[in-house]
Amino acid sequence: PRRWHNVGVTTTLALANQKGGVAKTTSVASLGAALLEERQRVLLVDLDPQGSLTFSLGIDPEELEVTVAEVLLGKVPARDALVTTEEGLDLLPANVALAEAEENLVTRTGREQRLRVALAKIADDYDWIILDCPPALGVLTIGALSAADQVLIPLQAETLSHRGVGQLLDTIHDVRQFINPDLVIRGVLATMYDGRTAHARNVLAAITETYDLEVLEPPIPKTIRFAEAPAIGRSILSTARTHKGADAYRAVARLLVKGR
Ligand code: ADP
Ligand code: MG
Repeated sequence: PRRWHNVGVTTTLALANQKGGVAKTTSVASLGAALLEERQRVLLVDLDPQGSLTFSLGIDPEELEVTVAEVLLGKVPARDALVTTEEGLDLLPANVALAEAEENLVTRTGREQRLRVALAKIADDYDWIILDCPPALGVLTIGALSAADQVLIPLQAETLSHRGVGQLLDTIHDVRQFINPDLVIRGVLATMYDGRTAHARNVLAAITETYDLEVLEPPIPKTIRFAEAPAIGRSILSTARTHKGADAYRAVARLLVKGR
């Protein structure tokens, strides 16, 4: 019994950015592991048909018969699709079946509410539910934003596309207006950050000003260790226990817990 804090309060956090390669999946896995270290009860949800989160946590997506796809289609309750990773994280996994499910959902009733409804039935078992969005602003990401209490926007400072952030914020505002009025933008998580370059620092400052968004501290440093973790099937927190990247995620996780 190492994690029974805050029983009865669940925070659902979506990591969203329609740009691929900005460390959404890496951040979901790492924050999940860091929150577990903080004795939080954590559920991760893979919403990418690529199944990268599932794979990176040591589970072969193609071997799964029941995934989040069947949950969204209403075929099974979320509880029946859960798996537990080697690190002890609960995961609602995904594989390529989610691509077909997504197409199917477009014409189905309540498509944007289905994740929220499914998660509501298991939410009491968790302090944190973290949603790994796919690199698109389609029905899966909108479903995640509809189910979330908070959204965190991972951004790679070096290659910031301001237009992309604007589109994401427009989508968030639409979701707030029509589906989920209580959705809070928790802020920007600066990823793959090289603080030695003035450019990275300037880009971060520009984000805060242009979009009036909080940038969470600390930024996540760019380091080669992140590339190695998925192949081992564990997050960076357990492959590199003392590591500046892992420690940055630990600090962000503590900030999230404090701000609940
Ligand atoms: P997304 O889910 O947004 O597409 P990923 O989490 O899959 O992004 O990350 C994209 C790539 O960047 C992966 O190869 C990952 O290992 C790498 N990466 C993530 N974070 C870092 C980091 N802090 N430093 C270096 N490489 C990173
Ligand atoms: Mg991803």
